[in-house]
Amino acid sequence: MLTSNYIGRFAPSPTGPLHLGSLVAAVASFLDAKKNEGTWLLRIEDLDPPRESDSAPGTIVEQLIAHNLHWDGDILYQSSRLDAYSEALDNLQRLSLIYPCDCARKKLPAVYPGNCRNKSSEKVLRPYALRLLLDTPVISLVDDILGPQRWQIDREMGDFIIKRKDGLFSYQLAVVVDDAFQHVTHIVRGADLLDSTPRQVHLMEKLNLPIPNYLHFPVVLGASGDKLSKQTHATPVSNQNALDNLKQALRLLGQQVPDSVDTVTLLEEAIANWNRNLIPKQLSVPLM
Ligand SMILES: [Zn+2]
Repeated sequence: MLTSNYIGRFAPSPTGPLHLGSLVAAVASFLDAKKNEGTWLLRIEDLDPPRESDSAPGTIVEQLIAHNLHWDGDILYQSSRLDAYSEALDNLQRLSLIYPCDCARKKLPAVYPGNCRNKSSEKVLRPYALRLLLDTPVISLVDDILGPQRWQIDREMGDFIIKRKDGLFSYQLAVVVDDAFQHVTHIVRGADLLDSTPRQVHLMEKLNLPIPNYLHFPVVLGASGDKLSKQTHATPVSNQNALDNLKQALRLLGQQVPDSVDTVTLLEEAIANWNRNLIPKQLSVPLM
């Protein structure tokens, strides 16, 4: 592997401050990039204003700085990238892979059954979403932690949304366009996003974009057994406890925990010690 070509990223959505689960994602992607002498980018995925908080981007940036997790280059805000997403949508439309769907979301099963696939466009009521026609249903890849993965995406996921009824671009499209734009080579993220991976790989194939390497680490479960998330109001990590937070993140990632007394030394040792093989090969870990 040409280590100097490594480009990784941390891409939080600003729906709230970082909690321990999102800090683990920052730490894992940071350490893997630094261990490989790579670049670590920060991308704020502010694509869904109704779910976001105005103060969250600033808070996330402060939290990263307080934990001495310094990114390379400028922050990319997805809200500044709408033209690029439009262009990608146009490309998919030219390939005849996009169709309008006016189905009421609440009435649909988890896997979209393709109701609108063959509806003539005059019959589709506004507002409508735009869906991607899945014409090559099998996606396979080798995850760096979880090993070989294979999905029959038409059966497991169904034609998914590229642009929502409310006019917002989907997470799946934006991520793919931006990972290519930022030349990301390595995606290190929680296994809660494993479901998104085949959708994104499929889009990359359709848009002729390079497929990065994937590493999915186990997500952190709270006391109730649910994933720690902003939606479940997981406690924000406190900047005053940065050292302990980083140590806890290392523990959850199965790594050696140096007994350093400051974050700079801790992270230096953590980079030197970073060992992917110690990451638990499972989808989730309980909070310790
Ligand atoms: Zn439909």
